[in-house]
Amino acid sequence: MTRSGKEYVEGLRDERRVFIDGEYVSDVANHPAFKGAVESIARVYDMANDPENAVVLTYPSPTTGAPVNLSYLIPRDEDDLRRRRVALRRTAEMTLGLMGRGPEHVAGFLAGWAGRPDVFAAGGRRFADNVTRFYEHVRDNDLYCSYAIIPPQIDRSKPAHQQADPHLYAGVKEEREDGIVIAGAQMLGTGAAISDYLILSCIVPLQPGDEDQAISVAVPLGARGLKIYSRRGYAEAAPSVFDYPLTSRFDETDSLIVFDDVFVPWERVFVFRDRQITSDQWNRTPAHLLGNNQAQIRFSVKLDLLAGLAMRVAQMNGSDKFPPVRGTLGELAAHASMVLGLVYAQEQNCEIDEHGVAWPGRAECFAAMTLQSDFYPKLLHLVRDLCGGGVIQLPSSAADFGNAEARADFERYVQSPGYPSAERVKLLKLVWDMVGSEFASRHQQYEMFYAGAPFLVRSRMSQVYDFDRAGKLVDRALAGYGLE
Ligand SMILES: Cc1cc2nc3c(=O)[nH]c(=O)nc-3n(C[C@H](O)[C@H](O)[C@H](O)COP(=O)(O)OP(=O)(O)OC[C@H]3O[C@@H](n4cnc5c(N)ncnc54)[C@H](O)[C@@H]3O)c2cc1C
Repeated sequence: MTRSGKEYVEGLRDERRVFIDGEYVSDVANHPAFKGAVESIARVYDMANDPENAVVLTYPSPTTGAPVNLSYLIPRDEDDLRRRRVALRRTAEMTLGLMGRGPEHVAGFLAGWAGRPDVFAAGGRRFADNVTRFYEHVRDNDLYCSYAIIPPQIDRSKPAHQQADPHLYAGVKEEREDGIVIAGAQMLGTGAAISDYLILSCIVPLQPGDEDQAISVAVPLGARGLKIYSRRGYAEAAPSVFDYPLTSRFDETDSLIVFDDVFVPWERVFVFRDRQITSDQWNRTPAHLLGNNQAQIRFSVKLDLLAGLAMRVAQMNGSDKFPPVRGTLGELAAHASMVLGLVYAQEQNCEIDEHGVAWPGRAECFAAMTLQSDFYPKLLHLVRDLCGGGVIQLPSSAADFGNAEARADFERYVQSPGYPSAERVKLLKLVWDMVGSEFASRHQQYEMFYAGAPFLVRSRMSQVYDFDRAGKLVDRALAGYGLE
């Protein structure tokens, strides 16, 4: 059953320990660092909960028959992937492609796991059942899961078990009859502070001896001993929507997650001290592809916004007909079109596995991930290039318009044909929040790293590309001639 935004917000009132600016926050929904993001997520919930959107955004739960969010769909064919894309695009448009880890992101990972319980059964039947039951629980209750699957950057030259303390990276500290106790930390829980469940696992290769870290578990955010250390809340320093229209509403926040002896009952354990299955859950299920397919759908919305902003600024400044400006606009449009095209291609080139689950096209998904870490910073640069000093030469805040003398000057000097002062300032402040603010800068880092360090993504691309097909062309090119 889908939830309303109000029900989502009510669900955040628990014993969670979110730490920011030197203190624990008891009510994230009303704290200035998180409030805007919570309200945005609540709107996303409301949209899917609206019966008018049910056809596009939901499907009947196979267990209850009630409408559940399409992000949880286990795709069986190309058409399912297409339906999923339409729903995910609508969802991403609600937040302008600026919330990378909304509820729909980890939902895709869980759908991928639930589509292949056999992978988890390799560790024992109960683990497969745990995955299936947890997936059904979050799907049928429309819960929001975030995840932390990267060990903190302490000493990258050593595996987990060789760190100065074996419990620096989150892992098993104690095995009990009723469950396990987790100690250590994991990064970087985007959206964790405002979600319902955190998935803790590890996606980076683990070495022999790292078995304690070879786990996959789900923990409610209110679990005893769980600590969520948020980075600076950009929204807190940007209370005015007019001055920071994106920061104030879409800063999903990122957190270091500390497990201070957190107890996890067996029913929430999916992988236990098994390096092979920890790796297989990403590679032998479609989880990673479904999660990243959603990420690309979301990214294509963001690129459309970026291209749209560039065009609007050029039109406002009267530069949109200059050939070099058209060229810049064309380059932005080309990247937006390429990512969208790769999203479509992931559907068309999907593979149906022996369990009847559709995996989005691997090479197309990795191609987008590989290229975006390089080109996203470049696209920001292109938009900055188009804007010149306009994004800087702006009133200090919306309050400036409250002074009659200043307002008269802005209306005379900070305007463009068809754009009275307040309209021009509004557009350029939006652009600055997209390309230049601290929020924008964090987004640059996000698009570079959310799918893993770029060198790793590139290397994985080389594994999923069909080099046999390419090699045949090399053979053809070499055939039929020689030294003679
Ligand atoms: C904004 C943001 C949000 C994120 N959200 C989440 C989230 O919600 N959940 C989550 O689990 N993770 C999240 N991440 C973490 C993300 O998955 C990691 O940042 C990513 O996997 C890279 O790992 P790392 O940051 O530890 O970088 P590292 O692995 O330490 O790499 C950093 C750089 O060091 C160099 N380097 C490191 N190791 C090697 C090597 N072996 N060979 C060559 N060069 C090397 C490379 O230049 C590399 O780019 C987020 C990250 C960011 C930036």
